[in-house]
Amino acid sequence: MFDESVPLYKHVDVVVIGGGTAGFAAAIAAAKLNKQVLIIEDHAYLGGTATAGMVCQFLGFNKGETTESQVGILDDLLKRLTAYHATSGVQTIYLSGIKEMGVGAATYNPDALKLILDEMVTAAGVEVLFHTRMITAITEDEKIKSVIIHNLSGIQRVEADVFIDASFHGSLAVAAGCDYKLGDDDGVLQPGTMMYRSDHVDAAEYHDVPRSEKKQLANQGVAAGALNVGNLLSRSLPDGTFYTNMSRVKVDPLDQEAYSQAEITGRKQISLISQYFKQSVPGFENAIVTDTADQLGLRDSRRIVGLYTLTNQDVLTSQTFPDTVASSDYPIDVHDANGLSSVLKKPAGGQFHIPFRCLQTKIANLVLAGRCLSTEYEAHACARVMATCMRLGEAAGIAAADSINIGIPVNQYDGQRIKTFIQ
Ligand SMILES: Cc1cc2nc3c(=O)[nH]c(=O)nc-3n(C[C@H](O)[C@H](O)[C@H](O)COP(=O)(O)OP(=O)(O)OC[C@H]3O[C@@H](n4cnc5c(N)ncnc54)[C@H](O)[C@@H]3O)c2cc1C
Repeated sequence: MFDESVPLYKHVDVVVIGGGTAGFAAAIAAAKLNKQVLIIEDHAYLGGTATAGMVCQFLGFNKGETTESQVGILDDLLKRLTAYHATSGVQTIYLSGIKEMGVGAATYNPDALKLILDEMVTAAGVEVLFHTRMITAITEDEKIKSVIIHNLSGIQRVEADVFIDASFHGSLAVAAGCDYKLGDDDGVLQPGTMMYRSDHVDAAEYHDVPRSEKKQLANQGVAAGALNVGNLLSRSLPDGTFYTNMSRVKVDPLDQEAYSQAEITGRKQISLISQYFKQSVPGFENAIVTDTADQLGLRDSRRIVGLYTLTNQDVLTSQTFPDTVASSDYPIDVHDANGLSSVLKKPAGGQFHIPFRCLQTKIANLVLAGRCLSTEYEAHACARVMATCMRLGEAAGIAAADSINIGIPVNQYDGQRIKTFIQ
């Protein structure tokens, strides 16, 4: 449909589609290796689900990791958030209140994150086109020649030596001809969530409510049709506001009518949840909703079929790989389709590992970054969290730049080289 008669916007060394936690890290990593890098981003800011979805808490750290023990881009980011007093730093939380499910988590203020990501890409010399959507790709002989973008300047083309798909939906990979999987064996996807923040919460009063009472309040709220989750999932942020992760909306993101309706349902659920909290949850009597996420957060979308697919078994048996680029003790965490609870499974060895080959595909000059990586369904449910996405993004950016330097197609690049670049 599109060909090279479409006006050329520019040629860069590396173009990154999507500036979420994976995409911004990929861009910075490639720029640090002296490549000219362009991010194409639909929103008006970076961060993706971390900012637009208002997730507010980095997960995906590894056993024993602290704020101070980080390396690479995640280290830089946490230091900057700390300087802005905008993160709790890495602390242990217990998923579903289960002692064995303790994991490292770092809350952050999403507005501070937007500002810091701007600062980080600017410092690295990365160019960003906001308000711009990649709509398809021109591909020949399993190599991408250019991507087609659309913004208020019209429809244009971007050429690059290496293309990074950090779009979460794997939209570039699919446009280039990669296969994908969606959902579990029955096509069922995890529910989405519309996040919101509240102010004027009496934090001390809320924290003093015993766990058993919180559980009872949650169950009462579910029975009353006000809540969608059997736990009170509201946490304080460094700026004193509380963010709440309690709406649950079933949605197939590839069905645009359903996806649009889901945004409306998410906001409606927030109205019911926040009213219930005000009426029934100690500490929230005077709470006001200050903001809702710009978009329904989606836990699931396409998983691209890559050169290696991380299996559920790999995760559960803590399989190691020579080209591991991210390791984490975050368990498989599948939110059931009805939203009420999560299935949690820890790897036998306490942690799981992701090889670089999950980011490589049959397309010579394409590398995946973030949660569109090649995994089975349950394996995805532990790989998708943000510290892991940043590590995958950093690996993708290094591979993109280094593969250009050594003259090897990025889909033949040896991922064992990546760790030597990360400090
Ligand atoms: C409700 C919910 C709760 C979660 N809770 C946590 C949590 O507590 N902790 C945690 O660590 N993780 C959590 N996660 C998971 C985590 O937030 C995401 O998996 C992670 O942010 C994904 O990062 P990403 O960069 O791969 O994708 P995204 O953050 O989704 O970024 C993709 C980017 O690409 C852009 N884009 C997409 N298509 C195009 C296009 N065609 N053209 C231009 N731009 C495009 C998007 O605008 C977006 O900015 C949660 C997710 C959800 C939905």
